[in-house]
Amino acid sequence: MTGKLVEAIGVARHYRVGRGRILRALDGVDLVIDRGETLGLVGESGSGKSTLGRTLVGLQMPSRGSVIFEGQDTATRERAVLRLLRRKRQLVFQDPSGALNPRMTIGATLAEHLRVQGWGRQAVRERIPEILEQAGLPSAFAGRYPHEISGGQRQRAVIARAISTDPDFIVADEPVSALDVSTRAQIINLLRGLQRTRGLSMLLISHDLSVVAHTCTRVAVMYLGRIVELVPREILFAAPRHPYTAALLSAIPVPDPPRERMRRRLILKGETPDPSSVPSGCRFHPRCPMATEICARIDPEMKRLAPGHSAACHHSDEVPALMSKMQ
Ligand code: ATP
Ligand code: SF4
Ligand code: MG
Repeated sequence: MTGKLVEAIGVARHYRVGRGRILRALDGVDLVIDRGETLGLVGESGSGKSTLGRTLVGLQMPSRGSVIFEGQDTATRERAVLRLLRRKRQLVFQDPSGALNPRMTIGATLAEHLRVQGWGRQAVRERIPEILEQAGLPSAFAGRYPHEISGGQRQRAVIARAISTDPDFIVADEPVSALDVSTRAQIINLLRGLQRTRGLSMLLISHDLSVVAHTCTRVAVMYLGRIVELVPREILFAAPRHPYTAALLSAIPVPDPPRERMRRRLILKGETPDPSSVPSGCRFHPRCPMATEICARIDPEMKRLAPGHSAACHHSDEVPALMSKMQ
């Protein structure tokens, strides 16, 4: 089956942060994730990536807007539907140590997760070795405690738990950033393999643009609670159309053997922005090297530029010239 699996429509998530101030962690996100697609999500710290991930799997509700899953609005109170939605959407997050109960064996953690979903004892017993194997762990690990296995193995156990209920959608929030470099590729390959063999859809959140570019079909770039560019992987490096994406790209080295060469770095003006005071017009304008007068007044809409490629910038046509200055 193809087509939309998850859809965010005008999703906002606001927090009150004292003295009547509102922090806009998400400020109108529209997004579609197709069946079988792996979408990357990048952006600076505090841009709202984890908030979006948690909202899409239903761990928190939007303040405004809707999350549609398999054509169904997830803002429902029907117990049976809620249970099904919980089973079908799973989250794998950054720190595998925090995600596992230190007083429970891996097997007990997996069993608890399945029982909550209504699995019977016998079915659970049969299922555990199967999912450990799929996550690349020996079945004997069911008897181990989290502190008795390595960080990479703990992340495998967390992934085993996520896939145990046979979900359709996984949000992986910085799944390798707490791991040492040598295990990162293994965990990414495990996720890719599971995604392919099970036809899962995945939202992969990462600070590391090269991880995302390597793994995902499309990349969403977030800035201050909004998606400002959605771009197919093949053209992410060559032809981005939002200056913020260009700035993120300028920070990573270009492979140019035998020496790695740095691109000319595009340094952004000012501080990392504060989501409790979102600038007028284009939210990126105080830091944008291409800003003009219109940018401070009018909030640019997401414009479709090509199939699978859209950007929210009044001057997206001029981004290629900015990119060529960075070479
Ligand atoms: P990082 O890359 O550091 O993980 P992120 O992009 O995942 O950052 P979020 O964790 O989604 O960012 O946070 C977005 C914004 O919302 C931040 O400014 C954060 O401080 C704020 N925020 C998140 N949760 C809450 C909360 N419960 N109460 C108040 N503010 C919050
Ligand atoms: Fe920069 Fe203006 Fe484009 Fe915003 S709309 S990204 S300020 S050029
Ligand atoms: Mg985060």
